[in-house]
Amino acid sequence: MPEGPEIHRAADKIRKALEGHTIEAVEITLPRYADRTADFEGKTVLKVEARGKAMLIHFDSFVLYSHNQLYGRWTVNKRETAPKNWNRALRIALSTRKHTCRLWSATDIIMLEPWEVSGHQYIEKLGPDVVIPETTRADLVQHMNQKKFQRKRLKTLLLDQGFFAGIGNYLRSEVLFTAGLHPDRTVASLREEEKHNLADQALFLSRQSFKVPGITIDLELYEQLRDIGMTRGKARHWVFTRNDLPCHRCGDLIVHTRPAKRRLDFCPQCQPQQS
Ligand SMILES: [Zn+2]
Repeated sequence: MPEGPEIHRAADKIRKALEGHTIEAVEITLPRYADRTADFEGKTVLKVEARGKAMLIHFDSFVLYSHNQLYGRWTVNKRETAPKNWNRALRIALSTRKHTCRLWSATDIIMLEPWEVSGHQYIEKLGPDVVIPETTRADLVQHMNQKKFQRKRLKTLLLDQGFFAGIGNYLRSEVLFTAGLHPDRTVASLREEEKHNLADQALFLSRQSFKVPGITIDLELYEQLRDIGMTRGKARHWVFTRNDLPCHRCGDLIVHTRPAKRRLDFCPQCQPQQS
């Protein structure tokens, strides 16, 4: 499943193609919206935004909400380019004079009234989004201080979009590593400076991974590792998928775990049980 940085990059592409532009043609294959093409045609896209793992395309009278779950995918092409021929079903295609944006395979697609957006069951539960520049350390610390999170473990919370929206599987491992926190720590066990550090690292790594696609390791170290012949995939993370390899900071071997069947890798030396 794509994580916050990937969703925001997809939103940027769609934004460039659609925002401020008029929809000249629309194709909808969803039976429940088959008679709604007139809602799109000739209308201008006011705003495109990602919220957590959802995409929102705002029109004057409605908002197109989509959540890709595991299989959904957006593509953006020049209008004259033929659609990709692949094993995915087209759900909706929006064309401006120059571009066509297509949503494939997703099943969670809803046309919402603008006033329904904030109360939508997914949007309503989202925590602060770590990728957008408006989110601050103070927002994250204040959010994590809520009673409902105190007894939960960080390994569980960091995949909960109601905790920090935009963190997914690779960012979970990477943020815990750079924050120096063991995955089994609870929020209640964190000292004030550990909370600040967790918030700072969540913001820093998500934003770096948005700007420099999918790279969470220190960028200078990344260049050094590439220079000695390491592939992009092997060089881009501190700990994620690096199980049984030496930690870049202390040389101890990275440990692999699978809580709830989702990969989590960490360094037992840099991320002690209690510090
Ligand atoms: Zn280490």
